[in-house]
Amino acid sequence: MANNEPNEQAEIIETNYLKNLDFDFGVEVTEKGKKLFSQPVKFIAASNSMQSLPEESVPEVAFAGRSNVGKSSLINSITGRKFIARTSQNPGRTQQLNFFEIGNENFRLVDFPGFGYAKASKTSIQSWNRLIKSYIKYRSTLKRVLLLIDSRRGITASDKEAMDAFNKLAVSYQIILTKVDKIKAKELQFTIEKVKDECNVNSAAHPFVHLTSSVKGTGIDFLRADIARLI
Ligand code: GDP
Repeated sequence: MANNEPNEQAEIIETNYLKNLDFDFGVEVTEKGKKLFSQPVKFIAASNSMQSLPEESVPEVAFAGRSNVGKSSLINSITGRKFIARTSQNPGRTQQLNFFEIGNENFRLVDFPGFGYAKASKTSIQSWNRLIKSYIKYRSTLKRVLLLIDSRRGITASDKEAMDAFNKLAVSYQIILTKVDKIKAKELQFTIEKVKDECNVNSAAHPFVHLTSSVKGTGIDFLRADIARLI
């Protein structure tokens, strides 16, 4: 990476994102986000069927994405806890919906199984697809699905499939670009534009795209604040 790269990238992140006047949270909401995630986080359930879901009681925000997209790392970053969500050495291993409670019955974070892993058998893919779709369709407490996209890859065919499914289910979803520390400024700018264009033509996609790095902490407070706004 060239010497001036980190600065260029930081500038793009500042201009397109953190200083986006259309999406300015202000101090109060940022503080609300920090406070929300400074509370204890408790793993409450792993469900592999609609019957085994925890009771619908508090708002839920779900995290979806391809295996290896950086979902466990991001969940660990926003909750400030290591190993809350296991980072996957073996992609596709977890085929359950994992529920984490933040604070005392404030809200829940739901970790979807990673998709797009070629080695998972067809039947297991179908059964967790079915579970995710049913969960999204019938869960009255689900506020939003966050769809994580690896910024180096952009929207892949399996991400597109997930977006199509979310559109059909009419669930509000929002794209979170992960691992932004790994790409060059120009590529990041290109990816942001492409992803935004894609969001504009997908009816259920939220127009604001998050830019995050779990390694550098980029966008973590902003994401916390955005989640806090949903509750
Ligand atoms: P998951 O399968 O979606 O849960 O992905 P993981 O969180 O296990 O991350 C997959 C790999 O990407 C691991 O080697 C992580 O260390 C790495 N990773 C995750 N987030 C980031 C990030 O923000 N920056 C960089 N450079 N690497 C990351």
